[in-house]
Amino acid sequence: MAATSFPPDKYELVRERLRRLPAVDRVQLAWADQATGQRLDTDTIRQVLAGRRRQILAGEDADCSLAAILDDCRSALADGRCDELQPVINATGVVLHTNLGRAPLARRALAGLQTVAAGYSNLEYDLKSGERGSRYDHVTAKLCRLTGAEAALVVNNNAAAVLLAIAALVGSGEVIVSRGELVEIGGGFRVPQVIARLGGQLREVGTTNRTGIEDYRQAIGEQTRAILKVHCSNFRITGFTSLPDDRQLVDLASAHGLPAIYDIGSGYLRGGAYLPAGEKSVAEAVAAGYDLVTFSGDKLLGGPQAGIIVGKRSWVERLYGDQLLRALRIDKLSLAALAGTLDEYLDDSGGAAIPAQQMLGADPAGLRRRAGRLAKNINRTATVTAAVVPASSQAGGGALPELAIASWAVAVRHPQLTADELRNRLRRYRPPIIVRVEGGAVLIDVRCLLAGDDQKVVAALTEIGKGG
Ligand SMILES: *Cc1c(COP(=O)(O)O)cnc(C)c1O
Repeated sequence: MAATSFPPDKYELVRERLRRLPAVDRVQLAWADQATGQRLDTDTIRQVLAGRRRQILAGEDADCSLAAILDDCRSALADGRCDELQPVINATGVVLHTNLGRAPLARRALAGLQTVAAGYSNLEYDLKSGERGSRYDHVTAKLCRLTGAEAALVVNNNAAAVLLAIAALVGSGEVIVSRGELVEIGGGFRVPQVIARLGGQLREVGTTNRTGIEDYRQAIGEQTRAILKVHCSNFRITGFTSLPDDRQLVDLASAHGLPAIYDIGSGYLRGGAYLPAGEKSVAEAVAAGYDLVTFSGDKLLGGPQAGIIVGKRSWVERLYGDQLLRALRIDKLSLAALAGTLDEYLDDSGGAAIPAQQMLGADPAGLRRRAGRLAKNINRTATVTAAVVPASSQAGGGALPELAIASWAVAVRHPQLTADELRNRLRRYRPPIIVRVEGGAVLIDVRCLLAGDDQKVVAALTEIGKGG
């Protein structure tokens, strides 16, 4: 026991402190007296007491009073609530924030999700023939219509889509990739490592900033199975750079009977609502002749997590035939939400009702007015001060590197708390409000606030303001 190493007088002190720790039922009674309406379970109390006991045994002068223990229980409960999956208010201005769940779903996606989740469905049952059907059939025709591709397949996410394409088409053979496109996407997914993990060989060509069609041509050999192009989603090489045209790359691959695969990352289906200059849509990549194009469901598309593969029938069929597909398959809830999202694009509005698209394309004047109203309401009720300031939003989600989108925000300052302290309070509020700190103030970018969020922000700042 750690306490035995203390000198005798210190040892007595430790024993005395341990004795002063309240018993579990005493804490429970005191908690009930506070009438917070919140249940405190004995496990939490035991953990809190055990924590204090450890401190005491380590020789610390730990506060053993009932009040201190109750305080600890309160924060333990709050920490427990922080661990629960829950809605948060995104005031960061990052639209497709990977840590905040990327794209909020459109109304039709939610409706589809709900009807399928609550009961049985024809997930893998063909209602026309009464025989076994394919889960993929519910979205493939829609995807082909929207992108102009011959065939389509969906898996769990885009990382899985790339994995499946490489596994099915490259295997232990060689795949050619430009050195400038050997990217690591969030979460440590590195294309070279994935290829190696699958037993394949990566053939790097060109240099970091320049790769020409001749580099690809010279690299093609007996073992070559595919040419892979990867969208540089989360970084940008600028200056003296060059890459071959799509046409050149596609023609070269096809002349050698190889598939040209394009991991386009954040796939926007086709020209329309929001696609920044210089970015290619999936439909354009398909039209350019790529045999397979892979992209995420929850980036610019604005749907649920999914990996979408569209392209030429003969190559897509090879993916359908791979054993790995079973392990990467999309679940029925994501599938239902994806079908609903695609329906939004298929109707006359062309996807205008997709929340992520609305946020990305939001009218700056409207954002400014919204920030003005929010600042006014904050100043009216709370002790904090709020001012409208220009801000810079981002697409996020590794979607569009370095693309700053001019936005408007409310800069909030608290008379006593530092900006960091205020940010922490907002993060631990219910519902949590996630903000940025800039120039000594908390910034509330209004771009990603959903309906009703404004009032919740005002309520939170009012309450935090009162607490001082
Ligand atoms: C985001 C991204 C991925 C990974 O997509 P997930 O759907 O998150 O798995 C793969 N490749 C590129 C180029 C990306 O931008």
